[in-house]
Amino acid sequence: MGTIRKSQLVSILINKKNELLDISKKEMSNFINGTTRESCGSGSEDGDVSVSLHAEDVSIGAGKIRHAMLVQIDNALLKLAEGEYGICDECGEEIDVRRLNALPFALLCRDCQEERETLEQTDRSRNSF
Ligand SMILES: [Zn+2]
Repeated sequence: MGTIRKSQLVSILINKKNELLDISKKEMSNFINGTTRESCGSGSEDGDVSVSLHAEDVSIGAGKIRHAMLVQIDNALLKLAEGEYGICDECGEEIDVRRLNALPFALLCRDCQEERETLEQTDRSRNSF
């Protein structure tokens, strides 16, 4: 992989990881202090309750996405250490450098990623019936 250096990648990945952990910490303390709830208005009417519940759902969902990204970043760091970075988890082909520049923690090549997303979407629609 020509254009990106390993040491650069490690710092990109670690920065990204710290950034995500930071957001998680802030959100966690907001959650504990109840600011997530208060920021949506703390009226006693029924309408307000459902709004604040919805906001909590959203922040829990965002937390899940962040957690998945952290797992990916850890995997990418592990692969870097093992010298397997940039190799697709699924098919073993090299991942396009342009893709790695845009998504330094990508574990799959674009083809496999698209395939997996299609499968997940199929799963989701199957589950909803
Ligand atoms: Zn692949």
